[in-house]
Amino acid sequence: MTQPTDTLPLPPGLHPDTLAVRTTIPRSGYGEHSEALYLTSCFVQPDSETSARNFASPDEGYTYSRTGNPSVTAFEQRLAALEGAQRALATASGMSAILLLGLALLKQGDHVICSRSMFGSTMRLFGTDFARFGVQTSFVSQTDPAAWQAAVRPDTRLLFAETPTNPLTEVCDIAALAAIAHQAGALLVVDNCFATPVLQRPLALGADLVVHSGTKFLDGQGRVMAGAVCGSSELIGQLSPVARAAGLTLSPFNAWVVHKGLETLSLRVRAQSEAALQLARWLESQPAVERVYYPGLPSHPQHALAMQQQGGLGGAVLAFSLPGSTPDEARRRAFHLIDSLRVCSIATNLGDVKTIVSHPASTSHGRLSEEQRQAAGVTQGLIRVAVGLEHLDDIRADLLRGLQG
Ligand SMILES: *Cc1c(COP(=O)(O)O)cnc(C)c1O
Repeated sequence: MTQPTDTLPLPPGLHPDTLAVRTTIPRSGYGEHSEALYLTSCFVQPDSETSARNFASPDEGYTYSRTGNPSVTAFEQRLAALEGAQRALATASGMSAILLLGLALLKQGDHVICSRSMFGSTMRLFGTDFARFGVQTSFVSQTDPAAWQAAVRPDTRLLFAETPTNPLTEVCDIAALAAIAHQAGALLVVDNCFATPVLQRPLALGADLVVHSGTKFLDGQGRVMAGAVCGSSELIGQLSPVARAAGLTLSPFNAWVVHKGLETLSLRVRAQSEAALQLARWLESQPAVERVYYPGLPSHPQHALAMQQQGGLGGAVLAFSLPGSTPDEARRRAFHLIDSLRVCSIATNLGDVKTIVSHPASTSHGRLSEEQRQAAGVTQGLIRVAVGLEHLDDIRADLLRGLQG
């Protein structure tokens, strides 16, 4: 019992909120309203000629899910629409998206410029793993474009930025970095994990590629790992043969989950950002709190830039520090606060509808020496909050338990 269900193409000029729920692949013959999950590892070919054609051009027809799957295509098209990109390419995780960039775009002798305060695994890939293949990386100040400019060399191929950063929410100027990259004949890549396309569209600001961890806000309910790269058809066309050969492919099940997650991305990110701002203001008024790090607060060093670059919202992640006359004392205070929580979770993910509280110095930044951590500003008293959708009063009360003790 199949029925004709061909959908007409969407009219041009639709708003992002509409694209987030309406961009999709054609329906199957059953007329399902919610997109089907194509949980299959390969695809039956109608005849040998078609099979030969599909194998020769994987973008023409599906053959094997490492090279393409409709549920993965559905997620890619929807994310590309939200980022304002010609194409997106889904990967198994955020880190596999960054690995793909290195594999596909860099060669021995190339030079990369990154911020010093990036995601730990990204730092490791560039600083250690790509270095073994003869790619050199300079790590510079997150917030000072002059430092990026000064690091440019004739062999600079890539500038890689992440904004806002984890956990101190430092913001960099995407348009300024794009100008530096293009003047040097290099590409600018922006990790848009924290802001999401709801708040920030790096391609419109001049970036060449956007990378995502779909594990965070895009899924939004802490269920699956996923990643993606978005950009021009030309650049994504360079990446996709490498992703297919290397098997960096996203699983259809995970793609389907994240594809559905995108439908509520805007509502979630806006609500979680509004709550984060309220929470940041409240924390700033607490005598037991030393300092609050949140781009939505006027006290944030890049507040004006953040508001302009992020559509007037600060995002859903903030950090705050508790004082201590020694690192040990600050750590005891932070652990006490975290261990007093009854509602928020102790975990290291973010972008979930459940609020997550973490202690960066002993988790994401645990491998650094105390000196390196101090230099990075990640003190033992620092606590990160990835704000979810619980009632704000309950989050405040949960944090207050540990602040008062
Ligand atoms: C989590 C994260 C990543 C890595 O993504 P995975 O999906 O965990 O591989 C990269 N960048 C940022 C900013 C992240 O928060």
